[in-house]
Amino acid sequence: MIRSVIVCLLALLSIPSSASAQSCVANPVAVQILGSGGPAINRDRASTSYLLWIDAQAKILVDMGGGAFLRFGQAQAKLSDLSLVAISHLHPDHVSDLPALLWLSHRARKDQLPIAGPSGNDVAPGFPMFLSRLFDEKNGAFQVLGPTLGATQGQLGGGVRLDVGVVDVTKAEPSTVFDKQGVTVTALGIPHGNLPTLAYRVQTRDVSIVLSSDQTGTNPRFVEFARGANVLVMHLAIAAGTINPLHASPAVVGRVAQDAGVGRLIVSHIGQFDLDAAIAELKKFYTGPLTVGADLQCTPVQ
Ligand SMILES: [Zn+2]
Ligand SMILES: [Zn+2]
Repeated sequence: MIRSVIVCLLALLSIPSSASAQSCVANPVAVQILGSGGPAINRDRASTSYLLWIDAQAKILVDMGGGAFLRFGQAQAKLSDLSLVAISHLHPDHVSDLPALLWLSHRARKDQLPIAGPSGNDVAPGFPMFLSRLFDEKNGAFQVLGPTLGATQGQLGGGVRLDVGVVDVTKAEPSTVFDKQGVTVTALGIPHGNLPTLAYRVQTRDVSIVLSSDQTGTNPRFVEFARGANVLVMHLAIAAGTINPLHASPAVVGRVAQDAGVGRLIVSHIGQFDLDAAIAELKKFYTGPLTVGADLQCTPVQ
C-alpha cells in the first residue's frame, strides 16, 4: 500500500525512477523510451533514443540524442549487453550523445560494437564518413576516440572498436542490418526533407517493433514495412492542423498506423504544442491502442 502510494507520487512528480527499467526486465521483449523529445529544449524530455530489451538485456539501441546518455544510465542498461546501435539519421537530436556513449567505452565492453547508419548525399555524409570526421585519430573532432575506428588504445583515451555498417537509403526494399541470436533488424529509407533517414524494424521472439524515426509519412512502402507490427513508434513532431516539409501531421501519423494495422502505436519525439489537440486529430484516423511516450517509459511487446 505504502509502496504503491510512493510509486504514484513519483509518477505525479515525473521523477525518473529505476522502476521503469525493472518493468522492462520483467518482459521477454519490451521497448523503452530513453528520450521522448525532439530538438527543442524540454524540462522533461531528452532528445530521441530507444532501447529494445530482449530477455532482460538491453540489446538494441536506436538513436542517441542529447540527454540519452543520462537516460541510458538511469535505465540500468549495459554497454556490454548491446548487440547493435542503429542510427536513423544525422540530425543532432538523434545522434549528439554518441560521443558521450563511446568515450572510455572500452572499459565497459571488450567486444566490437556493431553500429549502423544511413548512406549519404549532398547534405549529409554517409555514416562511415560521419564517424571518421568525429573519431579519426588524425583528423577527427574527437581524436581521443580514434580507437573506435581502429587506432591503438591510448593510455589516456579510447573507446570500444566499432563494427560499422551503412544502409543505402535509396533502396526500395528493406535492407537487413543485423541477423543473429534470433534477432533480425531491417531498415528502410524514409522521406525526411532531403536528409537520408532510416526506419528500423526489429523482429524477435515472434514479435516485431517498428521505429519510424522522423518522416513525412508519405512513402507508401513504409506502411508495408510497418505492416502488422506489434508496436509501432511514430513521431508526433508538429501541432494539429499544421504541415511541415520534414514531419508528418498528427492526422498522417494516425493514418499510417491505421493502414499498417499495428497492435499498438506509441507516439514520441513530442514537440511543445497542444498535445491534447494533436492526439485528438490523430485519433480521427487511428482507432487502435495508443501510448503517449515519456522518458524511461517501458512498453511490453506482445
Ligand atoms: Zn528529430
Ligand atoms: Zn530529423
